[in-house]
Amino acid sequence: MAAVGFDVWGVVPATELSDAKRHFEQWLSEGNAYRLDYLERNISKRFSPQELHPGTRSVIVGAVGYKNRLSEGYEEGFDARVASYALSEDYHNSLREMLRQAARMLGFTEPKSVKVCVDSVPLAEKSLARLAGLGWVGRNSLIINPLLGSFMVLGELLVPEECDKYSEPYEGNGCVGCGRCLLRCPTGAINPRGGINTRLCISNRTVEQASEEPFDTHGWIFGCDECQTCCPHNATAPLYRNPRFEPTFSPLDYDANFWATLTPEEAESRFGTTPLMRRFKK
Ligand code: SF4
Ligand code: SF4
Repeated sequence: MAAVGFDVWGVVPATELSDAKRHFEQWLSEGNAYRLDYLERNISKRFSPQELHPGTRSVIVGAVGYKNRLSEGYEEGFDARVASYALSEDYHNSLREMLRQAARMLGFTEPKSVKVCVDSVPLAEKSLARLAGLGWVGRNSLIINPLLGSFMVLGELLVPEECDKYSEPYEGNGCVGCGRCLLRCPTGAINPRGGINTRLCISNRTVEQASEEPFDTHGWIFGCDECQTCCPHNATAPLYRNPRFEPTFSPLDYDANFWATLTPEEAESRFGTTPLMRRFKK
């Protein structure tokens, strides 16, 4: 996995994720998914790699750090902020390529025998990442690795082979005694008992549901990094190493008026390879 650009990885058996499923269903029953209807579908598959892709025996979970200078925060008052993951090439494409390359290197020459998963596939990737030893699920609802922090993207390879030795789950919890993200979140979207209320989350409202009713985004145009920038585990994390995650533009070059008047055509020509297109294609 290192050879194709992952920073950390682990392997877990393809068993049911019953505890995680119970927590997810509880979270859904409290109305936290707001209008993200897709989360209500494929629940059984989401927590069963074997059901998602029959024949799967193991799941390889990889993570890549993307922290860049703007992950460290914007100056007070800047009102055209873009989440730092959106500055580089769309990670869905990068991770898919890396996982396909890894599958070939591992000898899986029949494409149908393996399944490549990036976050558009219904799979409980954060639960799998914890079981694979990559880190714990923080109060900001993201996987936090003790060295890389939470500015990471995850990808999984479902494979039809058992592994001689599986990874140990990550048992620590570096959130104990903290709570900075709850204080920092501008909209109170982080539930003190755990989980995010997506109706209040700026990231959801500027990326997934940008056309919804007026909502104060606190200067964020696309995504929101507030609950990561404030996290002490990110303060010491290194900047990205994989060149695929090099920023392709700087949001500091644009103001809020630029984004408000940007046409889909101009967005495509300037930012067509980045995740920003999820918003501007709508
Ligand atoms: S800011 Fe503190 S509580 Fe929030 S995710 Fe980071 S360590 Fe956990
Ligand atoms: S992404 Fe922003 S709005 Fe959403 S939980 Fe984190 S700090 Fe709050």
